[in-house]
Amino acid sequence: MKEKEKAEVEAYFPDLHFVVENDVVYVRGSFALMFEGRVLDRYSVELQLARNHPAGLPVVRETGGRIPRHLDRHILSNRTACVLIPDERWRLWPVGTSLLKYLTGPLHSFFLAQATVEEGRPWPFGQWAHGAKGTFQFYRELLNTSDLRMMTAYLDYLAAKKVKGHWPCPCRNGKKLRDCHVNQIKELRKNISRKDAERSLAILKVAGESAIEMTEANAPQ
Ligand SMILES: [Zn+2]
Ligand SMILES: [Zn+2]
Repeated sequence: MKEKEKAEVEAYFPDLHFVVENDVVYVRGSFALMFEGRVLDRYSVELQLARNHPAGLPVVRETGGRIPRHLDRHILSNRTACVLIPDERWRLWPVGTSLLKYLTGPLHSFFLAQATVEEGRPWPFGQWAHGAKGTFQFYRELLNTSDLRMMTAYLDYLAAKKVKGHWPCPCRNGKKLRDCHVNQIKELRKNISRKDAERSLAILKVAGESAIEMTEANAPQ
């Protein structure tokens, strides 16, 4: 945790406070939901920064007991909020951007969505399902395929230590990688960490075809 990062957050969110307990950094207090320069609403929060922050994602809890502990509200059974899925981090809070950017970006969106739902309106933007279904949805959109075998072939290459040009392309059209989707693979490997790819690959392998069935049953029209 850099002092500069702490000062930046405290200047923007004066009601959030940093506390260190057993070498773990917590950010606690009242999180202001801003709209057009004024405070729209507030949520009591606790962020637990990862030990490898900022490489790891913060763990977020809503501490006011205001949000029902339900998957539909993106509160997991361990009471933590699912603010973003690690695989999509590069879009929302790329590695190397500040904690303030996390607070004003994905975390702000998360609580804005909660406030919207509390008013009886639907979740205001895209959301992923949980578990294998959510992983499948994410990679279906990212890779533009519902073919689970193609998906896992891609994830194999994202999880691999190195990929070689003479390997078969994961799009499974029979060409070598270097003559086909090599640039797409390079780009994806830049964005999605091997660890995240490995985890998602394991999730999809365990779920198998059921990941598709669960998702197709709820596919948007
Ligand atoms: Zn969720
Ligand atoms: Zn290809």
